Amino acid sequence: MRTRSLLFSKVMEFVVRAAPASAGPSHLMSPLRTWTRRRQLTVLGVFSPFTGQMSGILNSLCSYSKDCRTNYPSMLHHYSCTMASRKDKNLTDTKKAALQVGGGRSLVAFYADNNVVPLPSGHRFPMEKYRATRLMLEEDASMEHILITRPAPFVSVQEILLVHEERYLHSILNGSLDKKEQNNIGFPWSPELVNRTRASMGGTVAAMHSVMLGLRRAAANIAGGTHHAFSDHGEGFCIFNDIAIAARVALEDYSEKCNLDQPILVIDLDVHQGNGTAKIFEGDDRVITFSIQGANNYPWRTRMKSDYDVDLPDETGDDAYLAVLSEWLQKLFTLHKPSLIFFQAGVDALREDSFGRLSMSRQGLLQRNNMVYSACLTRSLPLVITMGGGYSRPSDASVVAHADVYRSAALRYSAMS
Ligand SMILES: [Zn+2]
Repeated sequence: MRTRSLLFSKVMEFVVRAAPASAGPSHLMSPLRTWTRRRQLTVLGVFSPFTGQMSGILNSLCSYSKDCRTNYPSMLHHYSCTMASRKDKNLTDTKKAALQVGGGRSLVAFYADNNVVPLPSGHRFPMEKYRATRLMLEEDASMEHILITRPAPFVSVQEILLVHEERYLHSILNGSLDKKEQNNIGFPWSPELVNRTRASMGGTVAAMHSVMLGLRRAAANIAGGTHHAFSDHGEGFCIFNDIAIAARVALEDYSEKCNLDQPILVIDLDVHQGNGTAKIFEGDDRVITFSIQGANNYPWRTRMKSDYDVDLPDETGDDAYLAVLSEWLQKLFTLHKPSLIFFQAGVDALREDSFGRLSMSRQGLLQRNNMVYSACLTRSLPLVITMGGGYSRPSDASVVAHADVYRSAALRYSAMS
């Protein structure tokens, strides 16, 4: 059986590789697409003991089948990356997690809330919103088959070190932060906090692998978006910077071997400026940072310079916000032709938020999310979605808006066929 499975895999590889790019997708990919889909059903049945290995590759091909019309070379790159990763004996936990969940059109969303952090009663951070958001999605019948949730793997120390200084990393891991550093972050140290942080980072890195391996077009983390973390310190409830870590891992893993040949674009739509992310990638033209924020919102003293910053006045509202976003997305995608997108999808621009000042409605935020998804979908760009801020009191309105981020992505991406 193993020989037959291997043989089939080799045949698949040969068919895909043998097709010259110049042949063009129209007459080649149509039969391949049909063949792949038909074959997938047959093979999954016949070679059931090996479907775990096979389904990722087949699903990957299927999920790219429509896209092949415009993105045929990209599919080949993704395919060969997936094959190479499966043979890699030193897989990181984050890459393993992406491969284990496999491919398909449904949205995969990693979560970190299974690592419970003890906070003093009355602490102002809404830790419960993460679990509430996940449960809302898992209990939503319309999400069945189109959204998969998985516990996030822990990020490794080596991955964290791609962004953060060793002294700072170890002071977090062993709890030796001084009082001032701890106050800047806003959480009391605990071993559970370390675990939660590592899972929160790992979810974004695993989501990045999922899209860069071509297993999915979009992948998400129901955590992360910790954009106030700098390389040597944290602030504003952010310890390490998940998007920065995932971007650096992507640059390490995919720049040469795969198709990360254009910059990574970070679209930060949290109401607060992504100051940590801006500083980390200052002067690095491989990562473009774009942030829309409330002009009068935190950070005030530690504001940094993103590649593109858009400050909006208090009470901006839906129409003005969406007009600005639409114009900027067009401009950024045309100018930089990015290879990979990170979306910091904080919902603290919501009218009910206790910090945000932009007065957006739930409907406006939904349109915002869809604008980002459309921009990526029409250009066939891999997308990683992270959670970011949301501070309504009680947290219900924020939780609903956070759930919207993932629900609309699941609906949009699963509808693509
Ligand atoms: Zn925020």
